[in-house]
Amino acid sequence: MATCEVCGNDYWMAFEVRTVSGDVHTFDCFECAVHKMAPICEHCQIKIVGHGVEVSGRFFCCAHCARAEEGDQGAQIRDAVGARPT
Ligand SMILES: [Zn+2]
Ligand SMILES: [Zn+2]
Repeated sequence: MATCEVCGNDYWMAFEVRTVSGDVHTFDCFECAVHKMAPICEHCQIKIVGHGVEVSGRFFCCAHCARAEEGDQGAQIRDAVGARPT
């Protein structure tokens, strides 16, 4: 048994998440893991659960938010490679 470090639930299917720095965190569900670990978009403040984008060391949920905050580099960000299908 392991206890979730966010909500305190002692759950037999709790799991660990290891970060790039080697820290290990224990959660009982993905929602608690997102609450604790997901980066926050610097433009709209939502939790970034998907890939998101990183520009100049800042995290954004999508290309629109990156463009809104980061000038030249943000303008180069696209959510998907290639153009919309025609
Ligand atoms: Zn929890
Ligand atoms: Zn955003």
